[in-house]
Formats: sequence, structure tokens, C-alpha cells
Amino acid sequence: MKSKHTRIYNCRICNATEMEVVILLKQMPFTDEFISKQDIGNEFLADIEISICKVCGCTQNVNNTDMDDYYNEYTYSVQSSGFAIQFMGTLAERVKERYFRANSAPKVVEIGSGTGEQLLEFKKLGCEVLGIEPSEKLAEYANGIGVPTLHAFFDGDINNILPDNFKSVDLIISSYTYDHIPQPITVLKKIHEILKEDGIMIHEVHDLDLIKQRNEYCLFEHEHYTYLNERSISYVMGANSFEVDTFSLLLQNEKRANSLLVAARKVNCVKKYEVDVQFELKELKQLNQDVSVSIHRIQSWLSDNANVKVVAYGAGGRGIMTIAALNDVSGIKFIVDKNPKAENIFAPKSHLPVYGIDILGVEHADKILVFSFGYFKEIVNELCDKFGYTPNQFVSILDLLEPKNA
Ligand SMILES: [Zn+2]
Repeated sequence: MKSKHTRIYNCRICNATEMEVVILLKQMPFTDEFISKQDIGNEFLADIEISICKVCGCTQNVNNTDMDDYYNEYTYSVQSSGFAIQFMGTLAERVKERYFRANSAPKVVEIGSGTGEQLLEFKKLGCEVLGIEPSEKLAEYANGIGVPTLHAFFDGDINNILPDNFKSVDLIISSYTYDHIPQPITVLKKIHEILKEDGIMIHEVHDLDLIKQRNEYCLFEHEHYTYLNERSISYVMGANSFEVDTFSLLLQNEKRANSLLVAARKVNCVKKYEVDVQFELKELKQLNQDVSVSIHRIQSWLSDNANVKVVAYGAGGRGIMTIAALNDVSGIKFIVDKNPKAENIFAPKSHLPVYGIDILGVEHADKILVFSFGYFKEIVNELCDKFGYTPNQFVSILDLLEPKNA
């Protein structure tokens, strides 16, 4: 897929032109564009340039990538993960309890509502719900499970398509969507317009501070336009007439990895939240250094293991992007995944073949580098049981990534 890629020169948040590129990942693919043999070389590749605005201190991607087709065809969903479903249920309960005890049927809109499973949890609690979803297939699925969903982007024209009974609502939420929005301020203004007085807005985004802690440069993707932390997201909310209510709706272990969950209330004046721009700049520069060091560390680990057969486990975004940033992938034989997207596919940029895990029973690996580190134990157990591997053959990518392991 060839997509349009254009440079921006103004801050997505405050419109200033004082932007400094701090992290540069050269010629990176989409996380999800697996290719067939004949399409090798035709995949989308472009530099990812992560910059910081020296006026407001917000970190952001300074390229716009045309994603309309990508999102329309998007079918990835969290529907199979028990943990995600549990998270959604807990979130709905906490929100209802904290903000809508006196309101038996609050109106809830979700931006980028996917398969509708989060809204379904709100519906179970008596809320009236409406999803806005750019992928046609996902919107269809959501409608099928009883979650009314519009196939649309939530943008400046959203008022024209909202049904009359959803032109003024109590709660607007989004999950891993707000950081995918190229014009985050336009969307905030719309949210402000549609929310009732004292209405609540909740966003879940990737937390830049947690990315830094784990050195997870794979989360710098074409799909992600802004990278905020508690300090910068507070500034963004306040500058657009929202008052931050809490970052602790859920405990850390109830949230998904890297999640920053903010709840804010609509107010009628600007709120000032200070950001120390020099501090944010210093932090991002440190992250850049840590990223280079960890890329180097993975590369040396592969050289040290050049004489044995190394296989990568995990063809999700983390595996694909971490590998794509390496200069030399010849030390990896292939990638395996529990649920590969299709048969006979190759990873974008690295062009490593992607197989289901059964191949590990046929072609024995000496070492398995696990990118899906959240499931490390399960993966080790399964492969030992099924194919006779031993635990000392497994290495978690986290051990090579985290600065504290250097
Ligand atoms: Zn700015």
C-alpha cells in the first residue's frame, strides 16, 4: 500500500513553529502491513520523525500519513483477550459510579469504538450509547452485537451526522484513538461542543513516560501523531477548557500496558497547567539516546548468536517495529506468531517470513527471542510442552530493551 506522507511545520497542539526533531527512525513500515512474496519491496516505508514543540512541550510525529484506506480496512480488534474485556467492564463500572450515580441513563459516545465491546459494557449499566468508527467492518460488527455505531471519522463535520438525540451527551470516551488523531485540537473543540455542561471526557493513550521507562521505541508509529504524558496532556486539556479530574480511574495493574488514562470535566474557561519545556526536551533527548543504545544492544546480541538459529516470536506491532528499526536482521531466521494474519506472508521492511508456531516443531530453533513479552511465561510453557524446548532457550526482548538492564 502506498500512502501519502507529508511533513507538518506547526505544532499540532499550539500551532507554534518551533519544533525540534529528537528521534529519527529511518524508513519504517506500517505495523500491520504484511506482504506477499510478490509485493516485497512495494510496502509503505517512510521516516518516523518524533519532535517536541519548544513552546508547549508536547511530543509529536511531524508527518501526516494518509490513513483513510488503512482504517477503513482495519479489522484488528481486542475481542479475544479476556483481560481487555475485564478492563472494559471495570472502566464502565468505575465511570458510572464516580460520575453518574444520579443519572440512570447517561448518554455515552465513543470515538473509534471498534467492535463496540467497550460501549456494550456501558449499555449493560443502563447507559444510552453511540459508537463512531472509521472501519466499515468493525462498525458492522458493533451494530450486529447491539451497539448502534456510525461508520465515520469523528472530525469537524461530526455534527452533521449525529442523530438528534446524540447532539448533546454526558460522556465522550476514546481508547488508543486520541493519539491517532492528526488534528487533536479540532477534535477537542468538537467534544467540548457536544458535551453537556459538566460533561466528562475520558481518553486512554500511550503514556510517553512509560514508553521511556521501558524504552519501547516500537510505539513510535506512523499511526500515532501525539505522545503525551500526565503533564503534557493536562496542559492540552486545560488550554481547551477542560479540568483534569483524575489519572487514577483504574489501578496500574487494571490497565493495559503503557496506558495513560485521563478523565476531565468540561468547564467554561481555560485552565492553566504548567509544562516545563526544558525538562520535557531533556527527557526526550535521553529517550533518544536510550533507543540508540538498545538498538545497538539487540544488534550485538544477534551477532553474539550468529552461529545458532534464532527465531523471533510475536508478529504484532511490537515485533514488527522493533525489528524494522534494526540495521541488520540476517541473524533472525523467521518470525512466528500464534495467530499470523495469513499464510505465506512476510514482515514489512525486514521481509522475514511469518509462520504459525507449528513450524517450531519441524524446524528446530536454538534461541527464541520473545517480543510479546507480556505473555512470556505462557509462550515458554506452551513451546516446551508441545515441541520439547527448554526454558533457557528463551529471551525476552524486554531484557535487551530496558535501560536498567544495560
Ligand atoms: Zn506546541
